[in-house]
Amino acid sequence: TKIGIDAGGTLVKVAYLDNNNIEFRTFRSQQLDEVIKWITTNFERVEVCLTGGKSEILAQKLQGPTQTIVEFEATSKGVDYLANEQNLHFSNGFILANVGTGTSIHHMKDGKQERVIGSGVGGGTLLGLSYLVSGETEYEKIINLSLQGNRGNIDLKVEDIFEGAVPPISGDLTASNFGKLSKMMAEKPSKTDALASVIGLIGETVVTICIQVADTYQTSDILYIGSTLRSNSILAGIMNNYTKLRGKQPFFLENGEFSGAIGALLSI
Ligand code: ATP
Ligand code: MG
Repeated sequence: TKIGIDAGGTLVKVAYLDNNNIEFRTFRSQQLDEVIKWITTNFERVEVCLTGGKSEILAQKLQGPTQTIVEFEATSKGVDYLANEQNLHFSNGFILANVGTGTSIHHMKDGKQERVIGSGVGGGTLLGLSYLVSGETEYEKIINLSLQGNRGNIDLKVEDIFEGAVPPISGDLTASNFGKLSKMMAEKPSKTDALASVIGLIGETVVTICIQVADTYQTSDILYIGSTLRSNSILAGIMNNYTKLRGKQPFFLENGEFSGAIGALLSI
């Protein structure tokens, strides 16, 4: 069996072939032994290709030979594969943002990728800030709570500053994430509001960087991937709307978080 593994800072993404279908699995990077256990109990003969920051540590734990592939190469291979499969075609290149533990931003054109910039604001920030504002540590719970939250109690919009006057830019843009200090001091926002604003801060920061990169490379298409967007309709929604508000075209890939694992699988 052919198995592609993207062992990242937080999650290990696995893509493997089962009757010519690609199947997916996810493990925690803190529990690499679970990956080994799953492989040895389910498969007899395996060919493994690894990518991601924790691929060397995982290779040491795996008995038998393994291949490795550079992460950015694996990711772009997987993205090309999924985009094709999902009928997404970019004629003039596109910007790829991988929102993992941190965020990595690439320019993709004519089958080539160039890493342009990164940001420490990513999925790790989501988990860390969420813990600080709410004490919550479970990803699914954080997302569900944030869906009930109201950012209007915490985030300052351009229209809030202009108070009815006509602003020079869209009033709907965030003027200052977490900027409504006096309102917060008058009434402490709920946990759900705080979590919604944390996700807003992350989504808008990542989008803002991507917009700038898209302008530099003269494209309007931005494709967002990474596990931070998985079952996270609130972050995806914010990034979708904010990208459009800033005049660019957002795209999302189904199973996009498995791009690196798919790229590793395809290079066996
Ligand atoms: P990097 O590429 O930066 O080394 P990574 O590949 O591990 O990291 P991803 O798997 O793309 O990163 O994304 C990790 C993020 O996904 C987490 O920081 C968290 O915000 C989010 N996430 C989604 N599902 C879960 C989950 N079940 N448990 C923990 N985090 C999750
Ligand atoms: Mg990753």
